[in-house]
Amino acid sequence: MSAAPPGYQSVLDRLETAAARGGTSLEVLGEVRHGETTHPLKSLVLGRGAPRRALLSAGIHGDEPAGVLALTEFIESGRYRLFLGDWELTLIPCINPHGYEAATRLNPAGQDLNREFKSASPAREVALVQSVFTRRFNLSMELHEDNDSPGYYLYQKSRFDRGKFPGEQILKAVQGLVPLNAEEEIDGMPSDGGVIHRLSGPEAMDWWPMALYSLWKETEICLTLESPTLLSLQTRVLAHVTAIEAALRLCR
Ligand SMILES: [Zn+2]
Repeated sequence: MSAAPPGYQSVLDRLETAAARGGTSLEVLGEVRHGETTHPLKSLVLGRGAPRRALLSAGIHGDEPAGVLALTEFIESGRYRLFLGDWELTLIPCINPHGYEAATRLNPAGQDLNREFKSASPAREVALVQSVFTRRFNLSMELHEDNDSPGYYLYQKSRFDRGKFPGEQILKAVQGLVPLNAEEEIDGMPSDGGVIHRLSGPEAMDWWPMALYSLWKETEICLTLESPTLLSLQTRVLAHVTAIEAALRLCR
């Protein structure tokens, strides 16, 4: 058994300290209230004004802490600085704070926030995330975990042809650290060595995950990264940080 992940406020405190070292601070997108508990939903923008823009997010499913901790590690370690010449980085480190605190996939209203992005009246958390899309991104990356998967895999969708997809190279970067999911089908979709090319576009779907909303908002490359929960939390975090860095290198 590994130790429980740090609480939401602790994650925010660590990011705030790291942001201050970079001469900036977190921004409050808005407050999210469920029952008696209110949490601020926060974002962090680093390298403002760089030529390309990336959106990194995690914690939309509250029981998937590796993504939240990977973003925290990426910022706290200062490794993000290597990319600031090319990238303005917008982070939403934990989209579902109530779910994160309770270690539940859903928010307390029973909503899977990653199914809410086409809704005419989406959950509060989702509406706040949508507010950052007033500007276009070149790349979006969402960090998830999968408790059924034997290895790391990812979804990718791009406005370009397949030649520009970074997925295969991202998996090459993480495969020394974690096994890949080599199954021919993952979650009912054909997979090529752990890379799933989303079959349907935003128009064809009744509901949207954040990645398809991102695509609809003209993000050039949308990645959903899935780390297998069978590995230690520390390894899952390392795999996600490695994937983030590979994607930022490959897509600049
Ligand atoms: Zn998830």
